[in-house]
Amino acid sequence: MDMQKYDVVIIGAGPAGSSLAYMLAEAGIKVCVLDKKNFPRRKVCAGGLPARIIDLIPFDIKNVLINDIREVSLTHNLQREFCKQYNKTLLYTIDREKFDNFLLSKAVESGAVLMEGVAIESISSDKGQQFKLETAKGDFSSNIIVGADGANSFTAKSVGLDPIDNRHVAIQAKVPIENIPKQYKEKIALDWGFMKDGYGWLFPNGSYVSIGVMGPQLSGLAVKSYFDEWLTRFGLKPNECEVEAHTIPHRITKRPITSSKALLIGDAAGLADYWTGEGIYYAIKSAQIAGRQINKFLQGDKKALDNYEDIINEEILLELKTSYSFSKLFNHISLPVFKNLRKYHYPWNIFCRIMSGERTFLDIKKRLRPDILLSKIFFKSKRNH
Ligand SMILES: Cc1cc2nc3c(=O)[nH]c(=O)nc-3n(C[C@H](O)[C@H](O)[C@H](O)COP(=O)(O)OP(=O)(O)OC[C@H]3O[C@@H](n4cnc5c(N)ncnc54)[C@H](O)[C@@H]3O)c2cc1C
Repeated sequence: MDMQKYDVVIIGAGPAGSSLAYMLAEAGIKVCVLDKKNFPRRKVCAGGLPARIIDLIPFDIKNVLINDIREVSLTHNLQREFCKQYNKTLLYTIDREKFDNFLLSKAVESGAVLMEGVAIESISSDKGQQFKLETAKGDFSSNIIVGADGANSFTAKSVGLDPIDNRHVAIQAKVPIENIPKQYKEKIALDWGFMKDGYGWLFPNGSYVSIGVMGPQLSGLAVKSYFDEWLTRFGLKPNECEVEAHTIPHRITKRPITSSKALLIGDAAGLADYWTGEGIYYAIKSAQIAGRQINKFLQGDKKALDNYEDIINEEILLELKTSYSFSKLFNHISLPVFKNLRKYHYPWNIFCRIMSGERTFLDIKKRLRPDILLSKIFFKSKRNH
């Protein structure tokens, strides 16, 4: 079999890989995206997209959006339920099979070569000049490779990168919508306070709901007990549900995500939020940053690939680190926060703006700067004189 040659080979065709393939193909770059699965493929996911993703994706995705969520049911440690609304979209729900397949079809329409059902067996490099990738369906050579192969990235291991600081484990069941109480058919339900660094969710996705929990990987069986109790809350029997589990990877320190001309994006780079587990937005955003830098590199800017990591640290890691710190603080004050959300409009409004993506954790942190806080106190006390 002849060796296939590309400027860029992307390993993994999830939201990160297909977004990058789309961008490079649009720029006229010879790109191949390959995935070990055939599409449409199943992906364990709650299927929640923050509203801000609409502005990030360069084409219309409304045909793959299912619910426009504006109402949330909240519980603390599975109790004290209350419901509240927001006047704008908090998040959209999607079916990952359809969403991922749609993004990939856009990449193929733009000219990216797709190889499906092809797992990478080995990656080697010729002193950083060309990569050679071996698969059961033939070999590839490429000037640049990008690992978009998810939480257990084979690419990362093959090029000597270890970007993950810690992981959550997430367990979920997809339940036909008619099997849950009807008040949950168009709103989401969230629970926290049961375990540190964990929460439970229920997201409606059309004909079914995703019900799941996530907790730190090292918490062992506690996550499963939480999951069983969360299912029971909705009148479901744990042993009658089809259960799926996966890890969610987090990079919260500046661990390397590039090695020579190999880059990591999305979950392969650990770019999922520690507090919420949300990773689709960051998968697409990191793909777009990689796309810009690869384009510059191929046009002669030799430093462009090295700069990729600094840009990710500036534009994504800062936010993920801030979310991590807020999450740790939240563990200690989750009950008072819960009570405040129930009672007062202002904290509820902030909560909704964060969920929809109108505000970031970094915005909130900047507003909490001691100097700003002191000046506010000083200004107010002067006014009160
Ligand atoms: C239970 C659960 C719920 C979640 N809910 C949400 C949510 O509601 N909202 C949200 O934003 N995020 C959520 N996430 C996180 C989200 O799923 C990921 O952050 C997102 O899928 C990352 O996209 P990606 O393209 O980087 O990787 P993936 O979507 O994982 O895609 C990686 C691709 O690489 C392929 N691949 C892997 N190894 C190889 C190989 N050796 N060769 C070739 N191909 C390979 C895989 O087949 C896969 O198609 C959830 C995660 C879990 C586990």
